[in-house]
Amino acid sequence: MDKKVLKNVNVDDKQVLVRVDFNVPVDDEGNVTDATRVEAALPTIKYLLKHDAKVILMAHFGRPGGEVKEDLRLDPVAQVLSNKLNKKVTKVDDTVEEDAQKAVANMEKGDVVLLENTRFNPGEKKNDPEFSKQLAQFADIYVNDAFGATHRAHASTAGVADYVDEAVAGFLIQNELETMGQAVYNPEHPYVAIIGGAKVSDKIGVIETLIEKVDALLIGGGMANTFIAAQGYETGDSLVEEDKIDLAGELIEKAKAKGVNLVLPEDVVIADDFAADADNKAVPADEIEEGWQALDIGPKTIEKFSAVLKDAKTVVWNGPMGVFEMDAFAKGTNQVAKTLANLDAMTIIGGGDSAAAVKKAGLESEMTHISTGGGASLQFFEGKPLQAVEALDNK
Ligand code: ADP
Ligand code: MG
Repeated sequence: MDKKVLKNVNVDDKQVLVRVDFNVPVDDEGNVTDATRVEAALPTIKYLLKHDAKVILMAHFGRPGGEVKEDLRLDPVAQVLSNKLNKKVTKVDDTVEEDAQKAVANMEKGDVVLLENTRFNPGEKKNDPEFSKQLAQFADIYVNDAFGATHRAHASTAGVADYVDEAVAGFLIQNELETMGQAVYNPEHPYVAIIGGAKVSDKIGVIETLIEKVDALLIGGGMANTFIAAQGYETGDSLVEEDKIDLAGELIEKAKAKGVNLVLPEDVVIADDFAADADNKAVPADEIEEGWQALDIGPKTIEKFSAVLKDAKTVVWNGPMGVFEMDAFAKGTNQVAKTLANLDAMTIIGGGDSAAAVKKAGLESEMTHISTGGGASLQFFEGKPLQAVEALDNK
C-alpha cells in the first residue's frame, strides 16, 4: 500500500484521533444486535492504548441529517466498546463543542473518549473545512480505520486529514486494502466473481470492471431476473429493472467478446407471493409463470455454479443469490457459501447482506476475508479510488 499506516508512525504518548465505523445494527430498543464493526476496530484501539496514547474516537451512526437525534446517540455503542475493552469509555454528548473539549482536555494517557455521532453536525457530510479543523484540534495524529466509510469524503473521514500533522490508515483499513488488493491487482486464476443481490443498477460498475478481469462471472439474485428478461424470457412478477434490460443484454455480449464464462440461472425457484410461506417450485428460467416471481436460483443452477467454482483460485462474492432472509429462498445463497467454504482458494465476501448471509450460515471463519464495508468494497472492486484513503499521507 502506498499510504502511511499506523505502524509507520510514532504514537507513544500522542493524542490520536481515530475515525471508526461504529454504524452497527440495533433493535427497536436501541440495543446493538451485531457488534462485528466494533470488534473490527479493536486491534487499532488496543495498539494505541498499549502505546500510552490518548485515544479520541469518532464515528457516525444512522442518518440524523445534520441535527441531533436522541435515538441516534452513540451511548449504546460506547457501552459495547467499554465491555470489549474492559475499560472505561468516556462518551461525550457533542462532537466538537464544550463537552468534547472538556473531556479531551482532561484526558490522561491510555484514556478513551468517544465523541458524539459526527452526522449530528451539518458540516460532516459537506466535508466542511470548519468542522474538519475543529475535529483536527483534538489530534496530533489522525488514524482512519472506518473502512466502511472510505468511499465518502466527509469531514471526519477525509477533510480532517488536511489539518493534522500525520494522517494514516489503521489496521482494519490496511487489512481490507491489502487482502482485497490481492484479488484486484494480482489474482490467482481461475478468478471467478459471483454477483447477486437486489438490483443490477447497484452493481453495473463492478460487473463492467470484473468482466475485464475474471475468467467466469456467475449471476444470481434479484438482478439475474433482468438478465433473464434480456434473453427474451417472461419474468412474471419478478423484480426486473425494465430500464436496464438493454444494458444486461450488452453485458452478455461483452462477456462473450471477452471470452468470459458468464453463467446465468438456468432454473429458478418461483413463488406465488413475496412471502416466506408462499407456494414455491423450481422451474427452468424460461418458464417463469404469470403471477409468480423468481426468489432464488434453482438446483440445476446451484450445480452449475459449483462446477465452475470447483477449480477457482480466487473468488469474489457480492450479493446474495436469493431472498435469503426467508428460509424457503435461502438455499442458493447457503449452497454457494458452502461451496466457497470448501474451496482451496482465496475467497472474498463484500456487501453487507452477503456478509450477513455467510455469518447466518456459520461459515464466517471458512472465508479468506469478509469485508466490513459494502459500498466501499464495491467501489474498490470497481477500481475507483476511495476518497477517504486518498486523503491519507503517502508513504
Ligand atoms: P449486498 O448487501 O450483499 O451487496 P444487496 O443489498 O445488493 O446485497 O442485495 C441484498 C438483497 O437482495 C436481500 O435483501 C435479498 O432479499 C434481495 N434479493 C436477492 N434475490 C432476490 C430476488 N430474486 N428477488 C428480490 N429480492 C432479492
Ligand atoms: Mg445490501
